[in-house]
Amino acid sequence: MKQLMAANWKMYKTAGEAREVADELVKLVGEVPEGREVLVIPPFTALYAVAGAMNHGTGFHLGAQNFYPEAEGAFTGEISPAMLRDACCSYALAGHSERRHVMGEDDAFIGRKVAYGLEQGLRMILCVGELLEERKAGRVEEVLRSQLEKGLSGVPQDVPAEDIVVAYEPVWAIGTGEVAGPDEIVHAHAFVRSVLVDLFGEKGHEIRIQYGGSVKPANCSEIIALDNVDGVLVGGASLQAESFSQIVKA
Ligand code: PEP
Repeated sequence: MKQLMAANWKMYKTAGEAREVADELVKLVGEVPEGREVLVIPPFTALYAVAGAMNHGTGFHLGAQNFYPEAEGAFTGEISPAMLRDACCSYALAGHSERRHVMGEDDAFIGRKVAYGLEQGLRMILCVGELLEERKAGRVEEVLRSQLEKGLSGVPQDVPAEDIVVAYEPVWAIGTGEVAGPDEIVHAHAFVRSVLVDLFGEKGHEIRIQYGGSVKPANCSEIIALDNVDGVLVGGASLQAESFSQIVKA
């Protein structure tokens, strides 16, 4: 199983800015480390620009931050998985905390996206994670189980393990500079693994689980070495080629 080192650029960068950073990233990373994949997830308008840079480096993949789970139609402002594949995307996110808590997406809708994206040939990254008040109330496992069960409820049993990724992102650690401690990460990832095995049997051991939440060059090597951490999903520290290339090589 390859560790997935992913950069989520959120709503940052014009196409020109994105191309510049992607070109520099490909140059700085050089050869993607053995056993790792690099994934860049830019805004939609920068997909083609970043795809152009990624062509020069093997082991680099392109992803989408979002889509609407229908083939086409009167869905103003939305984009389909087929359009994203046409723009060279092989991965997409679903359930990112900003879409859950800023855009108000619920588990049922997120589950629809995961199932439909897979059906349309995208590898899906389902993001899950608890709010600070849920952690304080001792509800981490309950929240994670519920988000996983609902988010993955439409996934057929014969989907290959490498097509499904879960990103554990405690909401209180996203964009805050506050990283979950090693014990918290190990505990949460072991719990996610156990739910994946409940849902998919043996295949659950092969599904990658990323950690996300204020990952940076200074903490990445410690985090990536923890049990059941099969990659990282990085926001802020992925916006500059220099820092994300250090994370890729950590
Ligand atoms: C994210 O956007 O998924 C994320 C983890 O952001 P940051 O690395 O900035 O906390």
